[in-house]
Amino acid sequence: MNNLSGVLYIVATPIGNLKDISQRALDTLAAADLIAAEDTRHSGLLLNHYGIKKPFFALHDHNEQQKAELLVEKLRRGENIALISDAGTPLICDPGFHLVRKCRQAGLRVVPIPGACAAIAALSASGIASDRFCFEGFLPAKSKARCDKLQSLAEEERTLIFYESTHRICDALQDIENVLGPSRYMVLARELTKTWETLSADSVANLRRWLAEDSNRIKGEMVLIIEGKPASDKEEEFSPQAVRALRRIAQELPLKKAAAIVAELYGYKKNALYQFGLEHFQ
Ligand code: SAM
Repeated sequence: MNNLSGVLYIVATPIGNLKDISQRALDTLAAADLIAAEDTRHSGLLLNHYGIKKPFFALHDHNEQQKAELLVEKLRRGENIALISDAGTPLICDPGFHLVRKCRQAGLRVVPIPGACAAIAALSASGIASDRFCFEGFLPAKSKARCDKLQSLAEEERTLIFYESTHRICDALQDIENVLGPSRYMVLARELTKTWETLSADSVANLRRWLAEDSNRIKGEMVLIIEGKPASDKEEEFSPQAVRALRRIAQELPLKKAAAIVAELYGYKKNALYQFGLEHFQ
């Protein structure tokens, strides 16, 4: 590594709430010689908000491979460069991979300045297992490719995380229901850190029906957190929704009957639910 070379900083910016930026990110942006950004107009407004004025370099999906070499040259000459994206952490479904790769190959220093990321924010508040998860970015736009992708993940026991867009959410949920089953528990995290932030948790079938009732429920940016397939050889874990249903129905009916109803609704084994009820409610 050459000491005279500059440093590439990977700087996370907010995903909606402009207060979600670290002091270190602001200091790094203010000290950089150049800011590489996906959309320089959008990022201009963001930096303006923080009172930072810097030369920009446009680096987006379509020109990254070609422009990365130019940025590597600037770094070699000693310029410090901050990479930002339109929102959140660069490289997470955003440009930057080719640039970082080239910098690593060239022995240049790359420093992360961590901050907001929609996938991690959604996971942290979802109540779905966060110890092991697969981030899968955006599902394919066409239904056949989307179903093939979902099929390849159908046996996955880790939590699944997807980004989704407002105009595809209904079709995507229909395919998730068809491939992973109607009872798969999930959380839809919408407009995180913004005024209309909502986290809605239910089985995929119930969520799909609920969203279809009101177009306001599918507006904005969204993350899907989907429970992994329960491992067959470990004790069955029930979704919070199923446990709530069991608890409520068992107040009106014998536990055996309640377990049978919830088993049918959510696709669990009735004996396992009955045992769970005996251990937790009686
Ligand atoms: N780099 C970003 C990050 O760190 O999360 C993600 C960029 S990706 C191009 C944009 C997608 O992220 C959106 O379509 C949406 O799925 C998700 N997203 C971004 N901001 C969000 C927010 N405030 N609430 C929910 N999802 C968000």
